Amino acid sequence: MQDRDRVIGDTQTVQMVQLIRGRWLFTANETIRDGAIAIQSDTILAVGQWADLQARYPDATVLGSDQYAVMPGLINAHHHSNGVPNSLQGIEDDFLELWLVANLAGRSQDLTLKTLFSIAQLLRSGVTTVVDVASISGPVSTCVADLQQRLHAYQQAGMRVALTPGADYDSFLVHGEDEAFLSSLPPALQQQVKALIPLRPSLPQPDYLELMAHLAQTYQNHPHIAVWFGPSGPQWVGDELLLQIAEAAERVDTQIQTHAVESLYEKLMGPRLYGKSVVAHLNELGVLSPRFSIAHGVWLTEADIEILAATGAGVSHNPSSNLRLRAGIAPLNAMLAAGVTVGLGMDGTTLGDDEDMFAEMR
Ligand SMILES: [Zn+2]
Repeated sequence: MQDRDRVIGDTQTVQMVQLIRGRWLFTANETIRDGAIAIQSDTILAVGQWADLQARYPDATVLGSDQYAVMPGLINAHHHSNGVPNSLQGIEDDFLELWLVANLAGRSQDLTLKTLFSIAQLLRSGVTTVVDVASISGPVSTCVADLQQRLHAYQQAGMRVALTPGADYDSFLVHGEDEAFLSSLPPALQQQVKALIPLRPSLPQPDYLELMAHLAQTYQNHPHIAVWFGPSGPQWVGDELLLQIAEAAERVDTQIQTHAVESLYEKLMGPRLYGKSVVAHLNELGVLSPRFSIAHGVWLTEADIEILAATGAGVSHNPSSNLRLRAGIAPLNAMLAAGVTVGLGMDGTTLGDDEDMFAEMR
């Protein structure tokens, strides 16, 4: 649009102002009755009464009417661009750990198309910003090609995104106890199962760190795309890599989001692996900060919530997903009362598999 403005010249640029009109106009601070927003290209020129703005921009085109409500775009704080939903691929809802393994049977889909499909669903219910957590695997060239396809979709759609890639390195079968589990199997079965690990081709850890730092820096000043670190979960990456990720995120000035304390088993593993809760362990590692957010946090204790509030680490609350994967009900009120930063996420797993943010809010 900016190029067109330049060609047409200044005199006609005014005609390209658009008014977005609504009976109710919600801004961050107030609700305006019979309000409007004047925009030009990607800039908001004015917010106010419809009558005033109509007089000021008589030639503006008008979107909306007194039958609409106008509001800022919504933020989906935790998402996976699944494309064709799991439920339509024969992957039934189940407890997280079993469901993750069942997901290996998912069909391969064109990454740009599935991301665009997911973007269209999000936009339909008013989501304009999303944290899209992407699982990557294989050699670095494969991962780069994968991420380029996803980034291309966001570039094309103009959607605001924090693309948050992560890879798995540990706990493919049992949180923190793959070795113990494998050694408990009869020898023949043990060999068979061992041959399956890792469940996906792995991206070497140094390559992961280097690729992510490079992408985060490349997109540092992009108008609507950011790249964050997305370690899939503390038990899936291990302490050493998590520390390196925290250090790298600090260095290149980006964010980290990880799944944590989602299922009951993820709660139980804290005392078994670390001798304390997962959040207390993350705190002791020193990775928690306003740069760090966790998805789910269903099984947070009062002490965990205090730690999150004190360190400024955030939580994405994903109620539909928590119901569908039998995770439980997160202590939302306690988090809010303690002053934890909480966002609402849909985890690519909404009740109707339609990414409807209004249903999620209800
Ligand atoms: Zn998730």
